[in-house]
Amino acid sequence: MALLVTLLAAGAIACDDSTLVNPRSFDGGQALQYAGTQVAFGPRVPGQQGHEAMAGWLDSLLRTKADTVLTQRWTHVTQAGESLPMVNFLAQFNPSATRRILLLAHWDTRPMSDAAVPELQDVPVPGANDGASGVAVLLGVADALDLIPPSVGVDLLFVDGEDYGDFSARPQVDVMIGSRYYAANQLTPPPLFAVLFDMVGDRDLRLQREGNSLIGAPEVVDLVWNAAANAGYSSVFVGHEGMSLTDDHVELQRGGIRAIDVVDFSYGPGNTWWHTPEDTMDKISAESLGIVGTVALEVIATVEAM
Ligand SMILES: [Zn+2]
Repeated sequence: MALLVTLLAAGAIACDDSTLVNPRSFDGGQALQYAGTQVAFGPRVPGQQGHEAMAGWLDSLLRTKADTVLTQRWTHVTQAGESLPMVNFLAQFNPSATRRILLLAHWDTRPMSDAAVPELQDVPVPGANDGASGVAVLLGVADALDLIPPSVGVDLLFVDGEDYGDFSARPQVDVMIGSRYYAANQLTPPPLFAVLFDMVGDRDLRLQREGNSLIGAPEVVDLVWNAAANAGYSSVFVGHEGMSLTDDHVELQRGGIRAIDVVDFSYGPGNTWWHTPEDTMDKISAESLGIVGTVALEVIATVEAM
């Protein structure tokens, strides 16, 4: 009983203390290696060989780290009538805890470079930043939680099919497929909140508060940006409001989850590396992945102290 009282008192102090100490550390160099492994599979486009190879790697890697790994497999029929094999992975830590948080990223990559010059538009996006970076952060978080298990539930969700289709169509077609599937087939109890990591590896990282996050879950934006400030990264997680993006967090919001997007939508001069063959490993850094991963761990520590 004395121990319990001491722990509760320590928890209360930590909760009120803006200098909350995160007990875990994040290895940015290892995260960069995780990104490199993904890119080496080639494009992770649903229905193609690199997608299948990465699915096998991710599944077996997660099983070495998480308490439980759940998979959701289904076939998505595109507007053009093509059948695509889809799989979401959910790696659970402390699966019996009722207070849970959800961290997610998309693991697929875009089949075409539609933002590139016309002669390159048929080339698949390598997806070092747009795909691999978010997954690398989640895998680094998995390593840290494997070493020091969380006292709250943490679910790491790797969604498929975010980047397959047409974002410019209205309504948008064949995009955010995995997050929509998860929103319709979610685990219970629902998480306290969810944080999406997308395009978080840019060497020149600058994360603004994203518009749909501020509309859908402003208190979660505050929690994450405060965690970043506690970790000493206010110069990267800046106070400005950035663009409003349609991304996987919007599908989770539609499913009733308080979800936000941590995203740097300024990738290269004038965002010219986004959705082009320029999205390669030399554009991302261990330092940027390390900053975002450290903030993710700080968010977990914040919820543990609540
Ligand atoms: Zn994309």
